[in-house]
Amino acid sequence: MSTGAYAMNFIEETLSGWGNIPQSVNKVLYPRSTHEIIEAFTLDKLLPRGLGRSYADQATNTGHVVLKLEKMNRFLSFDQHNGILECEAGSSLEDIIHYLAPRGWFPMITPGTKYVTIGGAIANDVHGKAHHVDGSFVNCVLDFTIALPDGRIVVASREENSDLFWANFGGLGLLGTILTARIQLRKIETTYFVQKAVAAKNLDEMLQAIDDSDKNYTSSVAWLDSMAKGKSLGRGVLTMGNHAKLSDLPEKLKANPLKIGKKPTLTIPIYLPGFTLNMVTVRILNMLLYQLQKRGNGIAHYDKFFYPLDMINNWNKGYGKRGFIQYQFVLPEKDGKENIRKILEEITKSDCVPFLNVLKKFGNAQGGLLSFPSAGYTFAIDFPITAKLKPFTKKLDAMVLHMGGRIYLGKDAYLDEATFKAMYPQHKEWLEIKKKYDPENIFSSDLSRRIGLELR
Ligand SMILES: Cc1cc2nc3c(=O)[nH]c(=O)nc-3n(C[C@H](O)[C@H](O)[C@H](O)COP(=O)(O)OP(=O)(O)OC[C@H]3O[C@@H](n4cnc5c(N)ncnc54)[C@H](O)[C@@H]3O)c2cc1C
Repeated sequence: MSTGAYAMNFIEETLSGWGNIPQSVNKVLYPRSTHEIIEAFTLDKLLPRGLGRSYADQATNTGHVVLKLEKMNRFLSFDQHNGILECEAGSSLEDIIHYLAPRGWFPMITPGTKYVTIGGAIANDVHGKAHHVDGSFVNCVLDFTIALPDGRIVVASREENSDLFWANFGGLGLLGTILTARIQLRKIETTYFVQKAVAAKNLDEMLQAIDDSDKNYTSSVAWLDSMAKGKSLGRGVLTMGNHAKLSDLPEKLKANPLKIGKKPTLTIPIYLPGFTLNMVTVRILNMLLYQLQKRGNGIAHYDKFFYPLDMINNWNKGYGKRGFIQYQFVLPEKDGKENIRKILEEITKSDCVPFLNVLKKFGNAQGGLLSFPSAGYTFAIDFPITAKLKPFTKKLDAMVLHMGGRIYLGKDAYLDEATFKAMYPQHKEWLEIKKKYDPENIFSSDLSRRIGLELR
């Protein structure tokens, strides 16, 4: 055991996922160098953590070590000609946008928040509104370096240590600590989008609108009114868009076409009381969202187009102290439309009030071994925590499994081991790779123990 001053410098911190659950005390270190990262490997079971935007227990390691990598966020080189950035894994998409969007480069693949690190984006192989065109995060990563549990630092790419490369996309930080990555950025003329919004009266109209739009737009996502029932089930607004060219901008925006956003000034400073979200308030909020989104035609800045939730700091506190989950699943395209309807009906019949519903159609790009996206429909639903929620998600899990679908591990809170293993048969291959690189299970998390993603 190391007795170095740094290694002894644990800070006991209560950590959770973005849904504010589950809360637990972890021994946190803030490494500033590769040396400090590797020194920590000798201490205890450990887990790397980015900006904590996974929803539940993906980035917590109760009673053990968590390496918060936010100080490992330096840019190492940038090829301005080809848009290839080499950076430390604690760099965030926000950092990249801040420094490189004004030079005409933007992340190629982005989730719905820019507050994610490159390490976190790899470990969950994140996807965005453009999955049907660009695939998931793996498609913009050329290679990465990783510190393995035995202290070696190796490069992983499609050619070199390719087993390690593919197992880390969706690998949830359980194979080592990603130190640096080389990623491809997208050349842009402006930081704006040409956006179109289409209101759909019901699910059939919505699914048709998605099929029609995906041919013409690189980004698309639908918001569904979570309170609509009966003939209106699936009512909502589909928003789609393409990166705007300079010629698309009105004169007043042409003066600063690569404008970047400001830090949010709105903050939810405290947990809102539990009664803030109930059937009545959620119905009113959904009506407002419907009206607002319908008017979404025109030119939209990337902050509004990709990251509307980032505009309010700590918006997750709006769900109150009990927290919330985001339940996200994907269903195969075959029978997908009918199956989405069955699940929506089940939700509207339940006592669990869904707050936000988001629907998207994935393309069939290849991801990593445990990556979530696969061709079909993905649906994400926010539920505030109540006593009835966990049993209800068990019911939904069984339906999703029966329909040939799976749950997104980056957001999951309640999946059990048997259901996870049935949804992800590739876990067997992944565990073989774990055995090769981390035979002593040094890398662990609360999620790995919950769903059996560890050697036993
Ligand atoms: C508002 C919001 C919108 C979102 N929208 C989307 C979306 O559209 N699509 C999508 O796919 N996801 C989405 N997410 C989820 C989010 O993109 C992922 O959870 C992402 O992985 C979070 O990155 P992070 O840096 O916060 O990582 P953390 O949450 O801190 O960690 C996530 C995982 O990465 C591992 N990890 C972190 N750093 C390293 C490293 N250096 N080496 C190895 N492993 C590491 C951790 O151990 C953990 O298992 C959203 C989340 C929020 C809050």
